[in-house]
Amino acid sequence: MKAFVLFLFCTLCAAGPSHAADKIRVSSFSTILTEIAMQVGGGRVEVTGHVKPGIDPHEFEPKPADLKIVSMAQLILLSAKHMEGYVGKLEESTGTKAAVVEVGNGFASLEMKDEENPARKVEDPHWWHSISSVQKAVRIVRDELIKVSPADKAAFTANAAAYVAKLDALLRWAKVEVAKLPRDKRVLVTSHDAFQYFAKEHGFTIYAIEGVSSEDQPSSKKVAGIISLIKTQKVKAIFAETIENPKVLTEITRETGAVLGGELYADGLGEGDAATYEGMYRHNVSIIVDALK
Ligand SMILES: [Zn+2]
Repeated sequence: MKAFVLFLFCTLCAAGPSHAADKIRVSSFSTILTEIAMQVGGGRVEVTGHVKPGIDPHEFEPKPADLKIVSMAQLILLSAKHMEGYVGKLEESTGTKAAVVEVGNGFASLEMKDEENPARKVEDPHWWHSISSVQKAVRIVRDELIKVSPADKAAFTANAAAYVAKLDALLRWAKVEVAKLPRDKRVLVTSHDAFQYFAKEHGFTIYAIEGVSSEDQPSSKKVAGIISLIKTQKVKAIFAETIENPKVLTEITRETGAVLGGELYADGLGEGDAATYEGMYRHNVSIIVDALK
């Protein structure tokens, strides 16, 4: 015990106040990237998550208080793939000289139909539902942190490797869980089209009632199409999401006899067991597998 106390004391000495003052200031506009920056940066970063858990990132707009913090940040992290329409404004109004990193643009996109113009395809912004994309994001954040503070390269590299390994374990767990569902049961009917990346990683077919943005309202023709599909494919459950009003889903369950399978975290981290990426992902997988098996 005495040895432990001594060790702890010396660790605190080494971390001392002179280091605390020059922490790397990171501004993040994605709950997922906030966690990644904290995990990879460890004690060397001071991360401000501008988009808080439970907030709809499709609707978020930075306020003057956010811009003030961004103007002092040394690294600015964005989800990208068209999630943050305000990125230009952010750069102009803060006059930042820091790296503005559109993390999601660093790896491949899936495409989705543009709800306003169905002839057009747009990039699907919900990349964090693919664990392999999250691992790529971890490496991008690691490299950006190293650019800001090359002296911390060894620590950032070790932290990133540990986090990537945790994600590997999470993906292995998810594969075992999803394997409990026969292929023909892997059908996801959700309230907005956020789970394409998840579907691709785990072999699901997706039917979304709404389009990319959670404020879109589905047409009655689209709802009728989903109802007929649920009946013919004998889909047992459909899924609401935590930010969404599940009114249309309730109507569909009445028409089809499918149950509401529970709320999925579509647009980022939440509270309680979904306050971490791993917790959020486990929540989604467990809800989906339990409801469909
Ligand atoms: Zn979304």
